[in-house]
Amino acid sequence: MDTLREQLEGARFLVGVELVSIRGSMSEATAVRVRALATQLVDRPEVDWISITDNAGGNPQLHPQALGKPILYAGKEVVIHLTCKDLNRNALESAAWQLDSEGFHNVLAMTGDYPVGGSGGRAKPVFDLDSVGLIAMLDRMNRGFDDKHLKTSFCIGAVTSNTKLREGEVVPQYLKLAKKIECGAHFIINQVGFDARKARELKRWMDGHGIGHTPLVGNVYVLTARAARLFAAGRVAGIVVTPALLELCERHGRSPDGGKAFFREFAARQMAIFRGLGYRGAYLGGIHDLATVERVLEIERTFGSDDWKAFAREIAFGRPGEFFAYPDEVEAGGATAGGARPAAETAARAGERPAARPVRKARGRRAGLLYAFSRWTHALMFTPGRLLSRWGAKLVARSRDPAQGPPPLRVLERATKAALFRCKDCGDCSLPDVAFLCPESQCAKNQRNGPCGGTREGRCEVDGYGECIWLRAYERLKAAGTELALLDHAPVLQNQALRGTSSWANNWLGRDHSALRADTHAAPPHPATPHTTPSSELRDAGLRDAELRDAQLRDAELRGQPQPPNPNPQSPAAARPHG
Ligand code: SF4
Repeated sequence: MDTLREQLEGARFLVGVELVSIRGSMSEATAVRVRALATQLVDRPEVDWISITDNAGGNPQLHPQALGKPILYAGKEVVIHLTCKDLNRNALESAAWQLDSEGFHNVLAMTGDYPVGGSGGRAKPVFDLDSVGLIAMLDRMNRGFDDKHLKTSFCIGAVTSNTKLREGEVVPQYLKLAKKIECGAHFIINQVGFDARKARELKRWMDGHGIGHTPLVGNVYVLTARAARLFAAGRVAGIVVTPALLELCERHGRSPDGGKAFFREFAARQMAIFRGLGYRGAYLGGIHDLATVERVLEIERTFGSDDWKAFAREIAFGRPGEFFAYPDEVEAGGATAGGARPAAETAARAGERPAARPVRKARGRRAGLLYAFSRWTHALMFTPGRLLSRWGAKLVARSRDPAQGPPPLRVLERATKAALFRCKDCGDCSLPDVAFLCPESQCAKNQRNGPCGGTREGRCEVDGYGECIWLRAYERLKAAGTELALLDHAPVLQNQALRGTSSWANNWLGRDHSALRADTHAAPPHPATPHTTPSSELRDAGLRDAELRDAQLRDAELRGQPQPPNPNPQSPAAARPHG
């Protein structure tokens, strides 16, 4: 049987089914039911793969490998979900080695939902890496970690979430999607959504931005009235059910069959839309029995080749003021349930106001001033080769503790950064990456490579965090007309060895990720593999440098010596004076 990667390279429209893991052991009654369904799905030739969730919704559950093993050994392709919420980078690497050793070669790499449950109280969220960092790590494993290890052969999937209300939510999702593909994602699944215009927009964006070659799979959730209620209440981060759709679901839920026939037909129509739009397959979720899968597929087979166009006009549940990246998207979709308004990609470039809610003026002005001031001082102090940057490097290198730098400077750094940015002293500063907003203190998941998929109408999925920092960052850049450059940099992997040290000193002496980024772009390319892109070669060089520098830092710490200089003599960071 073909692997998932081979199937994705073919032309046949694929079908995947998602199984949600359960809380409890394999002997629990619920696990027995899921296993029975898995056994039935294994026998269905029209089901190409089975996906198994990882602590879905942020709740503790049976490990997906436990449910996946019997499926894998029965000969079906399995996709294991791997998320960053419960495991740090070392644990993720261990998990990946184990997956590879046991024969699981398909991984859906995600940031993951914020933990909501746990034994004895809520679990501590990890988020040491994000989805981009995890994809980059798996890609590196596929290349044998600098040829020192056997190569894994992961087929890496990623998720994108574009059913968002505001421009500052939608566009950063697309930019992050490109970053995921650049880092090694082999296929993309979109988040559950019920608006064909957004499905079309995603495909169109990918085709128009040079990433359309990556297989895109459409998420089809088989609704029930109860599930619609949960989604409408915002109980599942990133999934939107509008009042109009909820009313439809409630109405059909009251029918004698509880709406079963309607919801299956609805799912089949969604599937037809994805097929018509040129997606590579459909990913069925909300599945509790084989009959539902069979019926959805059966209904979809009865449709004519152009029927999906009419379905696309029906399944267009948008929200008032919703942002669309292309001006003709709403008209092309037909019905505008909820009164969605278009806005153009060109508008985004030209600095026009988004169709969605504008930024409040007073706050916007204050944010604008702080942003302009931060950019100016950052350029003044940290541009390699400039006077202050050279002085800073000299001062730090001559100080008694080069990890902290001269005490008066350190006091100044702490006081100004805490007051202006709510700095948490992580030592590997990402302020310039997020338009001078601190992800450590203001992002619940410490996202440094773009937003997670959990925003709700611009707000963070986690209560108490207000507007998503990436939306705020986007709006700051948009005011300067540079918003499409939001993620125009190598992936940021925060170095925990720098925590509690001076980020100014780390920058001046080339110890933080910004210096690695300079190194990354200066590093010579090394031999490509079939899955290696030029950017992944460069990124890999940066990762090797990070490890080397980490080891040197540890060494120097143990010996009580000053921190070592940048090991790459070609890099701009290394060219700085070190006293
Ligand atoms: S601030 Fe944004 S990126 Fe961070 S957790 Fe909240 S929604 Fe996700």
